[in-house]
Formats: sequence, structure tokens, C-alpha cells
Amino acid sequence: MKGLVDKPSYIIELLERGVTLEDVIDGHICEQALVEKSAFVVGDLGALMRQHVCWQSAVPRMQPYYPVKCNSSPAVIEVLASLGLGFICANKTEASLVLEHGVSPENIILSGVCKQLAHIKHAAKNNIQHLVCENEAELSKISRLHPRAKLLLQLTTEAHAAETSMAFGFSLKSCRHLLEAAKELGVEVVGVTFHIPSSCQDLPQAYSHALSDARCVFDMGLDLGFNMNILDIGGGFTGSEGQLKQVECAVRPLLEAYFPPLSGVQVLAQPGSFYVASAFSLAVNVVGKKVMNRHWDSLTQGMNNEDAEFLYHMNEGVYGPFSRKLLGNCIAAPSVHKHVLCAEEGVYPSSLWGPSLDQLDQVVERCLLPELSVGDWLCFSNMGVCGLEEFSCLSSSPQLPVYYTVSTCDWYRMQGAGVALDSAMKNFSMVRYSV
Ligand SMILES: *Cc1c(COP(=O)(O)O)cnc(C)c1O
Repeated sequence: MKGLVDKPSYIIELLERGVTLEDVIDGHICEQALVEKSAFVVGDLGALMRQHVCWQSAVPRMQPYYPVKCNSSPAVIEVLASLGLGFICANKTEASLVLEHGVSPENIILSGVCKQLAHIKHAAKNNIQHLVCENEAELSKISRLHPRAKLLLQLTTEAHAAETSMAFGFSLKSCRHLLEAAKELGVEVVGVTFHIPSSCQDLPQAYSHALSDARCVFDMGLDLGFNMNILDIGGGFTGSEGQLKQVECAVRPLLEAYFPPLSGVQVLAQPGSFYVASAFSLAVNVVGKKVMNRHWDSLTQGMNNEDAEFLYHMNEGVYGPFSRKLLGNCIAAPSVHKHVLCAEEGVYPSSLWGPSLDQLDQVVERCLLPELSVGDWLCFSNMGVCGLEEFSCLSSSPQLPVYYTVSTCDWYRMQGAGVALDSAMKNFSMVRYSV
């Protein structure tokens, strides 16, 4: 059970049969109890492979391109690269990272609708040909710095505009103009990309509009002599199999009508959360506690526990690994580390805060938890999407340790699917983990 290092860990713990992720979390909690009780992250690499299997069986025609911004930890990049995914990079840093992991530039798309000049040059130098573009200013930058680029035009969708409250992408109205400008500048256009966020309420309608618009753009492009062959339907997959099937139901008939397989159009999607959300759990320590009693019981001269509400501070908050909360995402209630639980204990309304004493630093507004003590541990699952670069640079402690694990059974399946330690995963070493 070695593997406690201060640098981001490149060790994978191989769980012997019968060892669960919970055992691993317990093990690290015990280790942490002897030191600083710092928060830590446990990653289950097998979850990436299981999500991939789910993706391939539900939407076999859609090639997954993983948006690096969702979680750029090295193990995620390496596993997804060896499973054969492509990558969506928003900038030069992400593109360099993915290239360093041996991903072929053909499998990289440089997204971002207003790119810094240096990032376009970097793409040209490194043979990354597929770039996203949505306006003329961008088009003229690209034609100057990367004349051999192949463009995917970012088409606006109502659902995306509603989420970001910004005009995003080009509209169908400005489409011919943009295509003609590309023709004039001699830049190749090869397809269309759009994004429908998972918050969208009416998936069938959103995809129906987006795909019929995309078909119009394809037709105009073909008219102007472009070889239009890539359709990218973006992200918006939560990670649940049910939601993936809903999207599939909405999209399949439309693809069959507008972009049938015989058309030769390659269909891509950008599943980010889908792959990584469930693969990471975060364990945090309770560092402060306040009782917010609603009634003072005059008979017992004490607090009536029935009416108690608790406020807890944890050692990480929204300025750390819970930054998603600042972007309006809800953080689900954690589970309590089992040593503090006893069967007959009641549960109380509780709120969970980060360490900063800042009004914004509320992580969970209200949930029901047994009474906790300072020093207890809470475990948040589904923490794989980090808004920013890496766990380590978001944390209040300089580096949040990340422990990578994989079960023996998943590891065999992953090797069957092409993930191998000696080639793709060469930066990792494996240690056996037993209890
Ligand atoms: C972030 C992002 C994605 C992936 O995010 P999901 O959470 O998987 O939807 C895909 N496309 C674009 C344009 C993004 O910005």
C-alpha cells in the first residue's frame, strides 16, 4: 500500500479481486489520519473503459473526441488515447499536452472560436489541421497563419446560446457569406460543429433544428465546391446511459435522414463529462462545525437535538476542487466515511462550506447527514470534471494527491481493448493493492 507521494502520482494501484474503491478510500483515510488530513482524490481508471464500452454500444457511429478541458490529468489522457479517442483542444497548452502523450495530430481538433495567433501558428507547425471557426476575423487569421487548415464551422444552437447567454457560433443567415469568404481566401471548409448542452430541456427539438441547419450548411458548402465530410454534434452527455440513449433516440432518425452512412460523412461527438465524471471521487476532511439550533429547550436548559441544524467547514471548497459550483453546477451530497456511522443515529439538516469563510464558498446548501465531528471524512463521488486545469492547481493545499486505481478485472478488459503499460501507459507503474 505504498504510493503516497507529494507530486501528482503516476502510480496505479491494481486492486486485487474483492478489493473495492471504498477500501482504497478507507486505506488512504487511515494514512492521512497519521499526517495532515489533507483532501485527496481517487481515480478509477476502469470507469473510463466502462464508459467507452457503453458509448460504443449505444452510439457506434459517433466517434468520440474528448474535450481536454474537462479533465487533463495524465492518466485520463493516456487511457483515452489508447482506447482510440480523438481530442478537442481549446488552446496550445492542451494541444501540446495531448501531442506529448503521443496522440497523432490527425486526431486533434483545435476548438475555441477566438484563438490567440500563437496557438494557430502552433497548430500549423505541429500539423494539427482541423480548426473550429465561426467568424470572418478568425477566418482571416487562419488563412494567414495556417493556410492548409481544414475548418469546422461552429454553428449556433438556441440551446447553447440560452446556456451561455451569448451569441455563440454563426447563424444560418451569415453562413453563405462565411463560406464564400473562406473560398475567396482559399481556406478549406470540411464540416460543421455545434453544441447542445446537457441542460437542454427539449432534446428532440434542439437536435432537429441543429441537424437540419447543419444539412443546409453542408449543401451550401458542397455548392461552393468544398468537400464537406465531418459532422460534429458536440457534447452534452452527462455520463448516464439513460441520457445517452435519449440523445441517441433524438439523433438517429435525423442522421439517417440528413447524413446517412452512404453519404460518407464522418460523425463525431465531444463527450467530456460522459467519460470522466464518474471516474473520480474526492475525500475531504471536516475542519469546523457550528450548531445552528432552531429552538432552545428551556426545560433541559440545553439544545433540543431534534431541531438542530449543522454547518460544517471542509478543508476544500469552491476555490479548490469544487470550482464547478461557481459556474452554477449543483454538487450532490457526499457520503459519510463509515467509521462515524452508527445504526441508530439520526440525520440532521446540514450545510457544507469550504474553508474560506467567504459567502460564495458554500459547497452544499442543504443535505441530511448524521452529526459529524471535526476530523471526520466526507466522500464526494462524480468529481471527475474539473472546470480548470488539474486538481493539483485548484487546491488550497499546493497539491491535492490523486491516487489512480484500477480493478484487476477492469485491467484485463482494458488490455484487451488496447491499453498497455509498456507502450501507451509508459509513464505509469503498477503496484498491487490488497487489504
Ligand atoms: C466543455 C465542452 C464540451 C464537453 O462538455 P460536456 O460536459 O461533456 O458537455 C463539449 N463541447 C464544447 C464546445 C465544450 O465547451
